[in-house]
Amino acid sequence: MSANGNKLELPASIVVRDLAQIIEQSPIDLIKKLMSNGVMASINQTVDFDTAAIVVAEYGFDAVPEELKEEVIEEVGESPLWRQLIADEDESKLVDRAPVVTILGHVDHGKTSLLDVVRQSNVAEGEAGGITQHISAYQVEMKGHMISFLDTPGHAAFTAMRARGAQGADIVILVVAADDGVMPQTKEAISHAKAAQVPIIVALNKIDKANANPENVKKQLADLDLVPDDWGGNTMVIPVSAKLKEGIDDLLEAILLVAENTDIRANPDGTIIGTVIEAEMDKTKGTVTTLLVQNGSLKVGDIVVAGTSYGRIRALFDFQGKPIEKAGPSTPVGVLGFNRVPEAGNLFQVVAKGKEARELVAERIEEQKGGGQATKSTSLEDLFAAYKAGKAKELSLIIKADVQGSLEPIVSELEKLGKSEIRIRVLHADTGNISENDIMLAAASKAIVIGFNVQSDVPARKLASNEGVSIRLYDIIYRITEDIEKSLKGMLDPVIAEKEIGRAEVLAVFPISKVGKIAGCRVRDGELRRNAKVRLLRGKDIVFEGEMSSLKQEKKDVNEIRSGFECGVGLKNFHDIKEGDELVCYILEETEQ
Ligand code: GDP
Repeated sequence: MSANGNKLELPASIVVRDLAQIIEQSPIDLIKKLMSNGVMASINQTVDFDTAAIVVAEYGFDAVPEELKEEVIEEVGESPLWRQLIADEDESKLVDRAPVVTILGHVDHGKTSLLDVVRQSNVAEGEAGGITQHISAYQVEMKGHMISFLDTPGHAAFTAMRARGAQGADIVILVVAADDGVMPQTKEAISHAKAAQVPIIVALNKIDKANANPENVKKQLADLDLVPDDWGGNTMVIPVSAKLKEGIDDLLEAILLVAENTDIRANPDGTIIGTVIEAEMDKTKGTVTTLLVQNGSLKVGDIVVAGTSYGRIRALFDFQGKPIEKAGPSTPVGVLGFNRVPEAGNLFQVVAKGKEARELVAERIEEQKGGGQATKSTSLEDLFAAYKAGKAKELSLIIKADVQGSLEPIVSELEKLGKSEIRIRVLHADTGNISENDIMLAAASKAIVIGFNVQSDVPARKLASNEGVSIRLYDIIYRITEDIEKSLKGMLDPVIAEKEIGRAEVLAVFPISKVGKIAGCRVRDGELRRNAKVRLLRGKDIVFEGEMSSLKQEKKDVNEIRSGFECGVGLKNFHDIKEGDELVCYILEETEQ
């Protein structure tokens, strides 16, 4: 809010004390003025815009509603690189480009079927392409406008891109089966799309089914803040049937409508940048890479670099396999010429000379070797430091709990905290163990994962350690808020981190009377230590976490046993050991703040 000449910008509501300060009057005077207008308000009470406008008019101000500031949508970290790049382009050179759409949703709700019917019914019959190679994106035409579809459904691919600083899609189609309703992956997909600030259109699929219940799905969506437009909200919910090919045009029109209201532009003559959508090695053609051009125009002969891959483009072909010379913004294109398979989700750029490409790649390889990890780290402490330095405006959290009943109090307690020093943004809150998807979302959004009475599964832990995502596990709710509060004040106790010291494979299980089961193991990596902690893994699951009751080598008690040796291990109060299980031995270490 500000006073500018006689114009005074005011918010929708304002505390009397603040209003007095802005118009430089004594609060008592203002309260009297309010009273004379029939409003009884104390110094700490809030008045609405209309009331404020009437009283400030008496002081000669002309009140206007304050322009809505971008609320809470600012993300921790940076917007995708290509977006920043487009923001730097000369405004007069920007032109509309085709919206890029990706399809998310729960398994079996019809993502693949929908992508197939959209492709079949709306792709113009092209001539047979020169290169018979499937690329994982396609374009359709609707009323003279092009729409690009990414053919890799699922939020894992979507979020993998974000985690690497890229973002392919402008619009998310959320497929929800009308007979099944909102399911766990639907919720995840919503969180992922919201975290990426990408608009969502709901395709309410399978409406042909006898047990379809669209109204129920709309209610579930409304509960998740996706209020359908026919209920007065902002979310378009389009009934479709991929099976009967119904509602497809409505869906495409909805995409165009959302695109019209979103800034989807690029400079076809600007700096060339885009994202690797998919890549594979073909025995005869070498690497075949699907790229999505996001700014500029990619040409045959350009030298491209993506991650640690590079090459001169030998051939470009469109999604129908037709060779093309040039691909502009929003065009998915097949590319031959990378020296090795680049990673999906990497950004690509064009450089002037082969030497430049080789130097850039060498630099990146060096960076990766030199523990580039540290810079990615998203520990609570780092985030708070970033916040203090003015780089982060909020703290993003992903919360997983054992039951819905504990989730609600956790979220509401945390949101209360967020009203003070730092804004807290809960990106995703759901029940269940911490999964790879949660870590992906955290990595992409620089968020922290909080688990309450849940575990993180093994692939999730691995990914978290690679991506530098911090997972904090709790079993008492107030400890969560206490911890976050302490860290916000910069007085968090030293973090106790887990350090793996060895792994062993269970080769056989021996029942020993009075003792229970003993695992006959071979140590594969590092060592097992009698007084360290252990975790027993069965595939992806953690079946035991605790201490050893015994560690023996050829019947003799030992304190440690090294890689390559066999031993017998007893687990404290646990006997459900199976052949093929894996034993992980770890210690807890204090790490510096
Ligand atoms: P995805 O896992 O989300 O990619 O789902 P799929 O596209 O593989 O579809 C899952 C199942 O639902 C398949 O057996 C489809 O044939 C079926 N299916 C998809 N769309 C429809 C639809 O509109 N109506 C009906 N009745 N079945 C559908």
